[in-house]
Amino acid sequence: MAKLMIIGCGGVAGVAIHKCCQNSEVFDTLVLASRTKQKCDKLAEELTKVSKTKILTEEVNADHAEEVEALIRKHEVDAVLNLALPYQDLSIMDACLACGVDYIDTANYEPEDTDDPVWRSRYEKRCKELGFSAYFDYSWQWDYRERFEKAGLTALLGSGFDPGVTSVFAAYAKKHYFDTIKTIDILDCNGGDHGYPFATNFNPEINLREVSAPGSYMENGKWVEIPAMSIHRQYDFEGVGKKDMYLLHHEEIEALGRNMPEVERIRFFMTFGESYLTHMKCLENVGMLQTTPIDYEGHKIVPIQFLKALLPDPASLGPRTVGKTNIGCIFTGIKDGKEKSVYIYNVCDHQACYREVGSQAVSYTTGVPAMIGAMMVVTGQWKRPGVFTTDEFDPDPYMDALNRWGLPWVVDENPVPVP
Ligand code: NDP
Repeated sequence: MAKLMIIGCGGVAGVAIHKCCQNSEVFDTLVLASRTKQKCDKLAEELTKVSKTKILTEEVNADHAEEVEALIRKHEVDAVLNLALPYQDLSIMDACLACGVDYIDTANYEPEDTDDPVWRSRYEKRCKELGFSAYFDYSWQWDYRERFEKAGLTALLGSGFDPGVTSVFAAYAKKHYFDTIKTIDILDCNGGDHGYPFATNFNPEINLREVSAPGSYMENGKWVEIPAMSIHRQYDFEGVGKKDMYLLHHEEIEALGRNMPEVERIRFFMTFGESYLTHMKCLENVGMLQTTPIDYEGHKIVPIQFLKALLPDPASLGPRTVGKTNIGCIFTGIKDGKEKSVYIYNVCDHQACYREVGSQAVSYTTGVPAMIGAMMVVTGQWKRPGVFTTDEFDPDPYMDALNRWGLPWVVDENPVPVP
């Protein structure tokens, strides 16, 4: 029985909270803490009627570690699941360390203010040394390793679908299907249609920052960076059909590249429709994706944050989104001296997710693994002092949990390779 604090109450958190409430044998108490407490109250009211899990709610600004710390102490929780934004990762990790509790999240640290001189000088050094220029990287959170080790605490980073499940798929393929993995292609396909000309399926600011940045992949241990959207392929996805996909930089490439150095090439592709790309390009061209504040009639506004306020709330897309997602990894390598390839993937239906938890599949495929990651840590199945990504533990209990909690997976031992 565990008492879990969940920080954030947006699209992903909504699903994770539903799932924790379905899993009341493990999560007997939840403390929901977010910037807008009414969202927590609304969910608590709805779920208390149908779940044995006791739910408490609080307001918190998780930018301030001391506010998080005060709540952890007040409620004596066993672990914190961070489902706010990547901007809050470090302050929440600090609070967990100060209070001696475990930490779980779904996305690696990224600063809100990319002009901050301390962050920028380290960022520019990293761009030069490593060769990728994404704003997010693991180095900030990996720096907490020694502190978590000394404190005997576990920090599990990136337990969403991608990153998260995709890295568990890699660990599973390595354990059960290969002696050596040579290449990994991570394919994220969203075949859903929400009927809007333009909307993002998760937090618009984080999503647009990620997609408009240069792409990159890893080859023989080195990063290769390419202009945004300049590598394009088409793939025929089970359950979805043919889709255009583009190579992006993504978190799990960094973690897998470090933890599986024998892999010769790791790439990440995401599907985008014509309308999404045209809108994004136009918004970028007029400066709406800028992360630096501008002066507007005496007010400072950050264009991408203003844009977020205009776009549909991802949490509101659930009722209107139809179609399926298909996310997985194609592995090639050697087993018993023979070349082989394996594709492990999950197909998830937007409307089925909506009927179950009131959310579309992008939030669902992130929120379910977030609950599973928290369950792995609080039940002791993935409990080790230090800071880890999901490829660093035994994948089997996590893979079983995916089948049980709504994200069943398929192993195809004869996949079509990415052209
Ligand atoms: P949303 O914007 O829908 O929700 C974010 C929530 O965090 C909101 O409730 C927001 O409060 C709250 N929040 C923001 N700032 C603070 C703060 N300073 N203190 C307390 N609460 C705060 O985002 P999503 O649910 O779409 O995404 C959540 C996380 O999941 C993100 O980190 C995202 O990158 C990650 N993600 C990971 C994926 C994966 O596969 N690994 C895929 C998709 C998302 P308010 O309600 O007031 O706005």
